[in-house]
Amino acid sequence: MSQPHSGPVPFSVEFFPPKDEAGEERLWRAVRIFEQLRPAFVSMTYGAGGGTRDRTVRIAGQLARDTTLLTVAHLTAVNHSLTELRALIGAYADQGITNILALRGDPPGNPLGEWVKHPDGVAYAEDLVRFVDELGDFQVGVASFPEGHHRAPTLEDDTKYLVAKLRAGAEYSITQMFFDVDDYLRLRDRVVAADPEQGAKPIIPGIMPITSLASVRRMLELSNSTLPADVDERLSRAAGDDEDRNREAVRSVGIDLATEMSERLIAEGVPALHFCSLNFAKATTEVLQRLGMDVLVP
Ligand code: FAD
Repeated sequence: MSQPHSGPVPFSVEFFPPKDEAGEERLWRAVRIFEQLRPAFVSMTYGAGGGTRDRTVRIAGQLARDTTLLTVAHLTAVNHSLTELRALIGAYADQGITNILALRGDPPGNPLGEWVKHPDGVAYAEDLVRFVDELGDFQVGVASFPEGHHRAPTLEDDTKYLVAKLRAGAEYSITQMFFDVDDYLRLRDRVVAADPEQGAKPIIPGIMPITSLASVRRMLELSNSTLPADVDERLSRAAGDDEDRNREAVRSVGIDLATEMSERLIAEGVPALHFCSLNFAKATTEVLQRLGMDVLVP
């Protein structure tokens, strides 16, 4: 079992590929702020399709080359043949990236729609983990789901498939964002019970400091996850009948929630905290400051 930390816990930050130049400028402003705070790593998500995929490869390369940050590049199996996957992994390696988060991905357009495997591709993230591992000296991570993946029939099945990804060679997992710490703790217990050796691998909790109730609700819907009733209640009360007008109140509750969750997770001995930054530095740095880290909020 993990031991509680005596010092500050390591943290990491997730970015996504911006759509346009303004978004890219915002991303780099956030990157430069986080760089000074020495995160354990940063990660760059891989788009569901279209141009953002090229941007992921390009920006992940820039992060690896032009900053001091350890970069984890996400990769999904959606609509890719093995030949394409091999080329993408090669493109990451050429840019000095050896850390890959291997994901199956969701169907483009409707993430909850039917998943169709590419005829020459892979069916599950487990297969992608093996594929990446066979291509070279990569450190591979995978996704985990405190509430269970929405396509897994039961939590036991969900645990079995996560353990299979870890046995296939993944060294750690990062969770989907969640808002009930007990869901995370139960996931950790399930993995340890299913396979103590794999259960010793880090399960890094994904934390989203909420700054907008409407947008977090949309994100949760797309991943079929939930806001616990008490959390929903606190945020809804802050939002009142006009979230736009009460944006600051919602944000303030969101930062409180992320801080409270992080404190409890640290006390429970998590290996690190992974923040979904949405390419902004302010909310995450506020949480880090509230956790006692020596951080100047931008
Ligand atoms: P898998 O592990 O393959 O699981 C998919 C489903 O199949 C699950 O229901 C699982 O229970 C089931 N399953 C697994 N193995 C088997 C088997 N052998 N037999 C039968 N069923 C099986 N999406 C993106 O598009 N880009 C990203 O950058 C991205 N980053 C993410 C980062 C994190 C930290 C997380 C948590 C998710 C991310 N996602 C991303 C979303 C992710 O791609 C989706 O949640 C996707 O639906 C599941 O991906 P997976 O890798 O967990 O798939």
